[in-house]
Amino acid sequence: MERDSFASPASAGLQNIRARIQRMCRDVGRPEKSVELICVSKNFGAEEIVPLLAAGQTIFGENRVQEAKEKWPQLRALYPGISLHLIGPLQSNKAAEAVTLFDVIETIDRPKIAVAVDAAMQASGKKPRLFIQVNTGEEPQKAGVPPRELGALLSFCREETRLEIEGLLCIPPVDQLASPHFALLNQLAREFGLKELSMGMSDDFELAIQMGATKVRVGSAIFGERRVKISPTTI
Ligand SMILES: *Cc1c(COP(=O)(O)O)cnc(C)c1O
Repeated sequence: MERDSFASPASAGLQNIRARIQRMCRDVGRPEKSVELICVSKNFGAEEIVPLLAAGQTIFGENRVQEAKEKWPQLRALYPGISLHLIGPLQSNKAAEAVTLFDVIETIDRPKIAVAVDAAMQASGKKPRLFIQVNTGEEPQKAGVPPRELGALLSFCREETRLEIEGLLCIPPVDQLASPHFALLNQLAREFGLKELSMGMSDDFELAIQMGATKVRVGSAIFGERRVKISPTTI
């Protein structure tokens, strides 16, 4: 078992990130169980993911519905108990597929998507957990609801759909300090009584834990650099 868990560079990376999360939780006096590590496997294939599954990692994130569909049904058949998170933008014509593929959809960001996900959930009987993505930097090219429109979107979900929103996700602008964005997301979650905060990636997950993250999304610090570079404007 011990040997298996170091069977690839990625599984060594995983142990390292888990240890850093543990240490940061201890340093800031949070229970270790209060932070979940989402291992972001976009652009990596089954051969790179399997060692992590063998090492006991069960929570993964993908940013594209199509890519998740190509990889995860087979992996799920081999490893039960996987929780797969959609962390990339969702189009309404992909809502039905997203609802069947993912256990958590973190990127609801407008009424049209909320309606499509609601309809897909009713049709399929599936009930993924749901977060709203907030565009804390109000970047025009980035998905997410602007902070001042979050209240209206939450009201819409509550009044016009059956969706239960549990938390918020943000991706701070690449060229800015992350802390004001993490603070804003935390403040919005408190204001609206939401428990889950998905924030923090390879470069800033420890800061995010200090600032209240309940999910951190870590890819390259586990797997190494992605072969195809995803432009920061599209993530
Ligand atoms: C790719 C991606 C991540 C992981 O980024 P790393 O810097 O490789 O850790 C986290 N969140 C989202 C939304 C992503 O698209």
